[in-house]
Amino acid sequence: MNEKKLLDICVGGVWRPGRGEAYASVYPATGQPIAHLRAASVDDVHEAVALADDAFRRGEWAQKKPHERAWVLYRVAQMIRERAEELAQKQRLDNGKPITETRALVASAAATFQFYAAACESLEDSLTPARGDCLTMSVHEPMGVVAAITPWNSPIASEAQKLAPALAAGNAVIIKPAEITPLMALELAAICELAGVPAGMVSVLPGKGSVLGDALVRHPLVKRVAFTGGTRTGKQIARIAADKMMPVSMELGGKSPTMVLADADIDHAVNGVLYGIFSSSGESCVAGSRLFVARPLYAQFMDRLSDAARRLRVGDPADPATQMGPLISEEHRATVERYVALGLSEGGTIRTGGKRPEGKGCDQGYFYAPTIIENLSNTDRTCQEEIFGPVLVAMPFDDEDALIALANDSVYALAAGIWTRDYKKAWRIGRQIQAGTVWINTYKQFSISTPFGGWRDSGLGREKGRLGIQQYMEQKSIYWGMNAQPLPWANC
Ligand code: NAD
Repeated sequence: MNEKKLLDICVGGVWRPGRGEAYASVYPATGQPIAHLRAASVDDVHEAVALADDAFRRGEWAQKKPHERAWVLYRVAQMIRERAEELAQKQRLDNGKPITETRALVASAAATFQFYAAACESLEDSLTPARGDCLTMSVHEPMGVVAAITPWNSPIASEAQKLAPALAAGNAVIIKPAEITPLMALELAAICELAGVPAGMVSVLPGKGSVLGDALVRHPLVKRVAFTGGTRTGKQIARIAADKMMPVSMELGGKSPTMVLADADIDHAVNGVLYGIFSSSGESCVAGSRLFVARPLYAQFMDRLSDAARRLRVGDPADPATQMGPLISEEHRATVERYVALGLSEGGTIRTGGKRPEGKGCDQGYFYAPTIIENLSNTDRTCQEEIFGPVLVAMPFDDEDALIALANDSVYALAAGIWTRDYKKAWRIGRQIQAGTVWINTYKQFSISTPFGGWRDSGLGREKGRLGIQQYMEQKSIYWGMNAQPLPWANC
């Protein structure tokens, strides 16, 4: 990647530097800049929205037949696949995830476009049973300009998850990626353009959320916001949206419980719990960050788990053998370190980790060791607040009722994991856990066909799934008179 060249951003189909401040995207494994750009300015936001609204109204995209839009989206999927390795390497540099993970994210982005191409050409409106001399139907229309605001942890996948269904529905989309990870959204916009999405239908405006994101959400021509990020930001956006009576979807934070019952398959559970919290360095909304283990199994299980955590391969994200890369930034590592210190001050003890790792490849970037803290109570802040890093809190539980109460005792309700050989218990507990997703004897598995989202402070609305496309459409009812006679009212 050329370090000197200033990257263009995409403002309503025009590729040019932003008018905001200059900054660099940094490789978190080394702290070195990998791309230089100028952020978008608030004027750029206004220009992009006006151009997107124009492009939408021209109808070159929204008026295409669904199978024609689908064909373009299939091409996007195909082009992502053709450039998969290049994109995965770029994503690795932009946010420091291990290459095995960024390859999976790129594959997921391609699958998302393919899925919404199929959803687009097979989406049906309905004729509803008439109760008079009318043909009555329910149809869906695109909304106009949609804002997609995304975080830094899985850019290409979370951006595709919004862009694909919003485009499939016929809308223009403005992506506001996280300031520190702008590269994948820019790549997606360029690919959409090459595949045949008309200019102006996709814009990418990197820069500060509190300035650009805010301006975008408030803009009167923005008709819907799809947001993924922190709960506090989500609530701010939802307040603004309430004043505009604008629909929003919110994919927010989590503090997900993962539960190991006394009869669990221990090999499966150790692997699953480790993967659930330490993959993506714990920078995952669904990270299984609160562990509850049946008391009779607790000592044995924690010995196995902490031994395995110590053996995780932390280091160079370019090495396919690496399991955990760095955290996203120095600032974020400092936040994680403050939480570990808080855990200790609340009476917790560190079973493993609790420090920066030493050794080859870990000396420059923002690495933090896989960390397990014990002897806390579920009500402690360390067990209640999202850390978004490789920190697991582990607690024993005594019986099923206590377990369900502990697991549900959180403002978050995004995901949960249950490890047991007893299918009746799995069903009973799975149905009582309050969470958008429950994994039984597995964790962090996703399918674009299965709706995803959270309850309570973890979110609002759902992404993914066949009906995900309708989240980006307004519903309209049509009554079409078939009366042989005038309406019996004016007697004419
Ligand atoms: P964040 O809320 O700080 O930022 C998310 C996005 O919102 C960024 O693009 C940011 O620039 C923008 N933003 C910030 N302030 C804004 C404002 N006032 N108005 C409009 N936009 C604004 O979150 P983050 O630190 O980038 O990401 C981490 C958070 O994201 C974690 O809480 C994590 O759980 C959550 N997350 C949730 C999911 C999910 O699907 N539920 C997925 C990934 C991440």
